[in-house]
Amino acid sequence: MHSQLLIDGQLVNGAGETLAIYNPASGEVVLEAAQASLQQVDDAVQAADRAFDAWRQTTPKTRSECLLALAAAIEQQAEEFARLESLNCGKPLHCVLNDEIPAVVDVLRFFAGASRCLSGLAAGEYLEGHTSMIRRDPIGVVASIAPWNYPLMMVAWKLAPALAAGNCVVLKPSEITPLTAFKLAQLAKEIFPAGVINILFGLGATVGDRLTGHDKVRMVSLTGSIATGEHILRHTAPAIKRTHMELGGKAPVLVFDDADLQAVVEGIRTFGFYNAGQDCTAACRIYAQQGIYPQLVEQLAQAVASLKAGDPQDESTELGPLCSRAHLERVTRAVNEAKALGHIQVLTGGEPLPGPGYYFAPTVLAGARQQDNIVRREVFGPVVSITPFSDEEQAVAWANDSSYGLASSVWTRDTGRAHRVSARLQYGCTWVNTHFMLVSEMPHGGQKQSGYGKDLSLYGLEDYTVVRHVMIKH
Ligand code: NAD
Repeated sequence: MHSQLLIDGQLVNGAGETLAIYNPASGEVVLEAAQASLQQVDDAVQAADRAFDAWRQTTPKTRSECLLALAAAIEQQAEEFARLESLNCGKPLHCVLNDEIPAVVDVLRFFAGASRCLSGLAAGEYLEGHTSMIRRDPIGVVASIAPWNYPLMMVAWKLAPALAAGNCVVLKPSEITPLTAFKLAQLAKEIFPAGVINILFGLGATVGDRLTGHDKVRMVSLTGSIATGEHILRHTAPAIKRTHMELGGKAPVLVFDDADLQAVVEGIRTFGFYNAGQDCTAACRIYAQQGIYPQLVEQLAQAVASLKAGDPQDESTELGPLCSRAHLERVTRAVNEAKALGHIQVLTGGEPLPGPGYYFAPTVLAGARQQDNIVRREVFGPVVSITPFSDEEQAVAWANDSSYGLASSVWTRDTGRAHRVSARLQYGCTWVNTHFMLVSEMPHGGQKQSGYGKDLSLYGLEDYTVVRHVMIKH
């Protein structure tokens, strides 16, 4: 297994202290990987800065070809990438291979095409004797910081638009899940000019702070927790850096009496528990209208209890472990706190599963109230809460009464209600009669404390550019 960093087109060993990388399905250490030293962080930023002038002048076609080559290389080695991701995160192997790797490849291909379609809004003579044009130009060196829940996918979401727009990138994957980024470093070295992509490894407080604080870094793109987002904003504020923040979520799922109950149950079973619920859009905060509530509670409990947790290698496994011991402890604490309230019923699950590995039983908590932490705070595990509501007004008010604003869904057969409620929800995305579905062409990103800036889509590409005006006197 490799653990080399990519700095200035060279694969090099980290010169910092080592960190243990675990297999969360067994709790065993799979690799000791050396972090970047602070000098190596500086070297990577300097290399990106040196590479920028030539890279920004490449044609969109050239940049597109590099991204297409990277997509093809990942596709060719899909099984190896999937094996590493599954080993490092505990994800069921078949999910990585069939869902995540194709999505990674698609996003690289989407931005390869999008780079050739980027356009300014206007060109013309707005002052007599002068021609104005709008350009969208790259920003410079982008520091990209990725989380542990979808390591390779988040890396692709960050690298693809930044590079397509002509920026150079210094990427830091999560210290918990670097294995696919190390593998990607080997491919990127063969495809991109030296310095265009640099890949580091290390802790946020050391490597991350040095990177985001470097004066040659012009933009910081984070997918991570609100706490880290807040920290990075403070840390980069003196230099007025551009930031792109994709933070947490606590998606409300509004189920009205007229909804298709079977579709709701299947939907929550799938979209609340995919990736063991470690997903910022997970369908976790359910509000059910009083008429449908009793049946939903009963049927959802049965459906969720049937989820098969187990060995990530096994084709029939639906639920893997949580990503780390520390995270298992966080999820356990959140559920224990909910249980201690007295008014919450644990319909299924509610505790860690016995045996090695960081498994938590798929859990449904009924009778949750709007003020409970289990309704208000992100758990980021295989846990859903259900809260009964009386009418549409109450459902919309409770759904919006949240510091998060990433994703939401509405389940109803009434088309008018679907439109009305979707229009009022303060979330970056609202799905109707489904949840969780993302496509490369459509934007993904939050409001409120879930952050700002879009991933995916042409909006994502634009976020990695600066709008400029060029005026020519005739
Ligand atoms: P985290 O904030 O702990 O870590 C995210 C990344 O930030 C890691 O690479 C970490 O090393 C780095 N980091 C931490 N401190 C830093 C610092 N001082 N300077 C620079 N980098 C630093 O988050 P996590 O636990 O890895 O990920 C889970 C969180 O990410 C959840 O809250 C989840 O909702 C969120 N998330 C959001 C989206 C989205 O699209 N909105 C997608 C996935 C995950």
